[in-house]
Amino acid sequence: MGRIQLKQVTKSFGEVMVIPPLDLQIEDGEFVVFVGPSGCGKSTLLRLIAGLEDTTSGNIEIDDKDATGLPPAKRGLAMVFQSYALYPHMSVRKNIAFPMKMAGVDQAEQDKRIAAAAKALNLTDYLDRRPGQLSGGQRQRVAIGRAIVREPAAFLFDEPLSNLDAALRVGMRMEISELHKKLATTMVYVTHDQVEAMTMADKIVVLQAGVIEQVGSPLELYHTPRNRFVAGFIGSPKMNIFEGPEAAKHNAHAIGIRPEHIAASLEGGEWKGTVGVSEHLGSDTFLHVHGTGLAETMTVRVGGEFNAHHGDDVWLTPEADKIHRFDANGLRIA
Ligand code: ADP
Ligand code: MG
Repeated sequence: MGRIQLKQVTKSFGEVMVIPPLDLQIEDGEFVVFVGPSGCGKSTLLRLIAGLEDTTSGNIEIDDKDATGLPPAKRGLAMVFQSYALYPHMSVRKNIAFPMKMAGVDQAEQDKRIAAAAKALNLTDYLDRRPGQLSGGQRQRVAIGRAIVREPAAFLFDEPLSNLDAALRVGMRMEISELHKKLATTMVYVTHDQVEAMTMADKIVVLQAGVIEQVGSPLELYHTPRNRFVAGFIGSPKMNIFEGPEAAKHNAHAIGIRPEHIAASLEGGEWKGTVGVSEHLGSDTFLHVHGTGLAETMTVRVGGEFNAHHGDDVWLTPEADKIHRFDANGLRIA
């Protein structure tokens, strides 16, 4: 089991309240991602769940039992950090065994759990190596293995992939997703990277300044962002958002359109502009278009074969049913 509930939880450091009253429900077996800009309180929230920080007020329940005052070791959760902090002089096997040794698990049971964790993480052939003889990705897997053998009710990950290079990050992202499917254990995963959030989560929690801006599945957040912040944060390249007469025509204070929902043409269309920078990714090209009279720059995603260069005139036409409308408070208009 691994159901976690936060009820009116707050956290202050001295005078500064970094988490105003917050409610959140994490279901057993869910993969939940906390995402938001640096400093928005993601780690603090995770540390409150882990028991590494005390709540200032409010309650945390794990499997419907109050865990608010419990020390970390009594919560049945396992945390995996960005810096994997392995013991360099111990073998992989001993590193993985360490928490079980501390907990007094008998040897036969230890061996069984180590074998299962090593199998799940493709570490079976590396058990007798030391961390120094492993790649960054393998070391991160050992850290995860050390969490698995504790058989926690939930795994808590704080930006576990930030230290890895881009290619390795993509690989580890899929490994962690697969591990979640194998173990079917609750995972709470913190990242500032919206791509990680979109690709891994069952449920994303978008945070800004300690406040939950929206909770939903990746596609809910993509299709129906609750407000301008979520609209701009989820999706890459960012949604184009602009105010003024064009928005007023749509009875809105601001309207938003994603780069992939605008058609570009050299012949004609709704908005005329000039190509500034074009970024050629091969499969796609991102055109940054100036002078549409709508926004300083509009970003448009076109096919990799679209033939436009710096200084060319280009016409843009939004897909009418893909326009997002926002009121003066930045909230979505249904
Ligand atoms: P994130 O993980 O989203 O980058 P954090 O949870 O680390 O953000 O921090 C949230 C806010 O709380 C930041 O403003 C940070 O400076 C502050 N903060 C975090 N830990 C402490 C602490 N131990 N003492 C004082 N302020 C802290
Ligand atoms: Mg953090």
